[in-house]
Amino acid sequence: MTTILITGGGRGIGRSVALLAGGRGWSVAINYVGNDAAARETADAVRAAGGQAETLRGDVAVEADVVAMFQAAEERLGPLDGVVVNAGIVAPSCPLAEMEAERMRRVFEVNVFGAYLCARESARRLAPRGSGSIVLVSSAAARLGSPFEYVDYAGSKAALDTLAIGLSKELGPQGVRVNAVRPGLIDTDIHASGGQPGRAQRLGVNAPLGRAGRADEVAEAIVWLLSDAASYTTGAILDVAGGR
Ligand code: NAP
Repeated sequence: MTTILITGGGRGIGRSVALLAGGRGWSVAINYVGNDAAARETADAVRAAGGQAETLRGDVAVEADVVAMFQAAEERLGPLDGVVVNAGIVAPSCPLAEMEAERMRRVFEVNVFGAYLCARESARRLAPRGSGSIVLVSSAAARLGSPFEYVDYAGSKAALDTLAIGLSKELGPQGVRVNAVRPGLIDTDIHASGGQPGRAQRLGVNAPLGRAGRADEVAEAIVWLLSDAASYTTGAILDVAGGR
């Protein structure tokens, strides 16, 4: 594994994957959608850790952006051998009965359509080369359902678990591994974007391990799945959720 693309790599879990990859000397394409400063800071940190880095602005829910992002990543860093389909959003917590259609549409556009587009683009590029690794960032929400908070988000992540199963079977014969990671309550900005900045700490104490997780703890699992150390692992859905 030498060259990877991370969607939503500027902050949170994606940022931690970028830093860990940089520490291994990998080349890292960092996609983001709006926060230029965070993406630039992550790229600088990857270079400081020993890797190469490029930032790529693009909305994963827009097909033209996704195609251009993969194209630019390979032009600047060389052929990709790993992709982390990580970009994802939540919307403010509420029961399903109170959800506006537009909010649900955006959650599914980014988390499902965007992830499928990125996985498709990965398949098109990795499979002809006969090797590679795709990691889909799902969520423990896929099996918990997230009642009264975001059942839309939970369903969007369940779609990624199913994608990992199906795409691993499509691409296994061509030497490309596809796996999913299901983080639990991880301390990142995503909870504030759902209107609950303290959510990970508040609920994390109820996890069997008694705390929220850190982004770098999820990154370890993702980088392992990207790496040759996971050479016989495909179609797996790995919980990194403190037992929750
Ligand atoms: P985060 O801190 O909010 O970071 C999200 C990243 O995704 C940012 O870099 C953001 O870009 C990018 N992004 C958002 N929408 C995008 C779009 N349409 N196109 C391209 N990039 C986009 O989130 P996180 O907690 O690290 O979450 C990363 C993944 O882990 C998500 O899929 C999330 O569902 C999943 N997850 C997180 C947790 C948790 O507790 N944190 C638990 C389970 C699963 P900008 O920086 O430009 O805004």
